[in-house]
Order: sequence, then C-alpha cells, then structure tokens
Amino acid sequence: MRFDIITIFPDFFSGIFANGVLKRALANRLIRVNVHDLRNFTHDKHRTVDDRPFGGGEGMVLKPEPLVEAVESLGVAPGAERNTSCESVIVLSAQGARFAQATARELSTLERVVLICGRYEGVDERVNELICDRELSIGDYVLSGGELGAAVIIDATMRLLPGVLGNEASSAFESFGHADEDYRNDIDGPPRSTHGSGGLLDYPHYTRPAEFRGLPVPEVLANGDHAAIRKWRRERALEKTLRNRPDLLENAELSREDRVFLDRLTRPKP
Ligand code: SAM
Repeated sequence: MRFDIITIFPDFFSGIFANGVLKRALANRLIRVNVHDLRNFTHDKHRTVDDRPFGGGEGMVLKPEPLVEAVESLGVAPGAERNTSCESVIVLSAQGARFAQATARELSTLERVVLICGRYEGVDERVNELICDRELSIGDYVLSGGELGAAVIIDATMRLLPGVLGNEASSAFESFGHADEDYRNDIDGPPRSTHGSGGLLDYPHYTRPAEFRGLPVPEVLANGDHAAIRKWRRERALEKTLRNRPDLLENAELSREDRVFLDRLTRPKP
C-alpha cells in the first residue's frame, strides 16, 4: 500500500516513521510512504503557498494551485475518473467525517491513499471539489495542522494490512475489533471473551511481576482455566466499555450473557 503526504512541513515526519511497527512495515516493503513538500509546487520567488481569505476574516488559507499541482504530479486519476475502491485523495480537516477504526479498515483495502495536510485557516474549498474524494477529521478538536492526522491515519490503517503485525490476531482481537465467526454463531451461548471484541473496548492486560506495589494480578488469570479467563476478560471489557464509552454498546455484538451482565451493572442498587 502506498501513502503520499502533501505538507508544508515535510520534516515533521522524520521521526514518526523511524520507530516500531511503522519502521518495520516500511523496511519490509509492506507500505511505502512518500512525503511531498508543497512548496515544490509553487512558481514564485517566495514559494508562496497561502493567501488572505476572500470575504475577510482571520488568518491565511492554503492556495489551490500548488495543492492541485502536487496531487496531479502523483499520477492519481482525476476526481471524476477516480476508482475510489483503489485510491483515495483525502484532505485532513476538522470539518471532515470522523476517522474511526471502520474507516481504517476501509482504507486498508485500497492500494493508494494521498493525504493533504492543511495549515492556517485551512485549504481553499475548491481543492475539495476538484481533487479530493473525502475530508477526514481525527476528532472533535482543532489542531494546528493536518500532519498529526495524516500520521494517525497511516498508523491505524497500515497495522491492519496482512503481514504488518507479527500475529494477525492482534489487530482482530483489540478494541473496536469485529466479533469473529465463533462468537457470532454462538451469540446466545456462553461468553466467548477473547474471540473478537465485537465493537467493545479491549479488556485489561497484565504482565509480570505477579504483584506490584501491593496490587496482585487478578487470580483468575494465573490459574490456567481458559473458560474462566475468557469469561473474566469479556466481563472486564463490558465494564470498561460501559464506564468509558457507553455509546459503543449500542452497536456492539452482545450475547444474552453479556446483556444479563450489563443489566446487573446498571440496575440501581436496592
Ligand atoms: N479553520 C478550521 C476550522 O475551524 O475547522 C481549522 C483549521 S486548523 C487551525 C489547520 C489545519 O489543521 C486544518 O486545515 C486541518 O488540515 C488540520 N486539522 C485541524 N483539526 C483537525 C482535526 N480534528 N482532524 C484532522 N485535521 C485537523
């Protein structure tokens, strides 16, 4: 999979791709990331990328000409002819659709993604109309540039590609993951905790030492009873989701036992 980033701050990315899973994915040629300096697509002495907003108001706006030229130089198909099941040109924007794990899953099926990083007050709207097929936001807050958003999107997307994580199950069985077939087919059966989160948050993890500062690891995790461990993990995932992200429960894949457990947690104490 190939990512192209268009930015006025190419140096921003120098450390981001030099560590961990991203570094390995690049070294193993599972992904390619090219960073393009927007100023290389200007034609004036000052390499101007921004200008004042029409209509007045605060700040500056990224000009359309260098951005359109930069995207055109990458050889992606023009907006109307683009096959968006293979390639996508995305502008990072606080006004965009919210990027989520489902978006990462969708992007991970593409061959190529171009990410345009805004700055100042944003990008001239005609860039959207002419060359972008979607606007994405990484959350409900305003950042000073799209670079962090581009890095977030690349990281979340590339770890879903086959071969990037050592263990394929790692990305399936974490927060926001799908329930797997076992879990789906057994929806009214006993809780199947570790078999895909089914849209819940992940369960809590522990490693050695068995006791740290007076806090022992939950006993159930050390006794080797797999069914009890699965049940414990499922219940903790349900608890954590209820506590931190109750909105996720609306679309989570829940078994009858899950519902009984949640009902117990939310029932007012007598
Ligand atoms: N005037 C814009 C608004 O109110 O929506 C904010 C512009 S922001 C200061 C500059 C750039 O940061 C944006 O063009 C965009 O590329 C990026 N940006 C800001 N917030 C973002 C977010 N939540 N997600 C993705 N990109 C963001």
